[in-house]
Amino acid sequence: MPIDATQPYDSQNVFAKILRGEIPNRTVYEDEWALAFHDINPQAPLHVLVIPKGAYVSWDDFSARASAEEIAGFVRAVGHVAREAGLVEPGYRLLANIGGHGHQEVPHLHVHVFAGRPLGPMLAR
Ligand code: AMP
Repeated sequence: MPIDATQPYDSQNVFAKILRGEIPNRTVYEDEWALAFHDINPQAPLHVLVIPKGAYVSWDDFSARASAEEIAGFVRAVGHVAREAGLVEPGYRLLANIGGHGHQEVPHLHVHVFAGRPLGPMLAR
């Protein structure tokens, strides 16, 4: 079920548990600001999620409340993951689902990184 992205941050969400080490993950990259790990239900040959370490529900929540350092750290982490996985030349797709119409299921901001095959048109019609 999609979440209501206007709700306050739920510290029991699955990505909060991953950040606290309560649930295992397959880490791709980690630094002070971000964690990147393989999606448990991959929808492309490479499907990685990048999340900020702070407690933010959505892109608009993050952009409104995060510090400039947190924002820079998160954005740089996404680029780092793409470069380190060798995705720059073949290409890749970034996606952030937000709220109901965005079909966001986990209420902690995350960017999907899809790659490994031609990904087709942007949205199903
Ligand atoms: P979204 O619809 O953008 O909120 O996507 C949430 C994503 O989180 C889905 O692609 C799920 O497969 C993924 N996911 C849910 N639980 C886990 C988990 N424990 N480890 C890794 N990925 C997960």
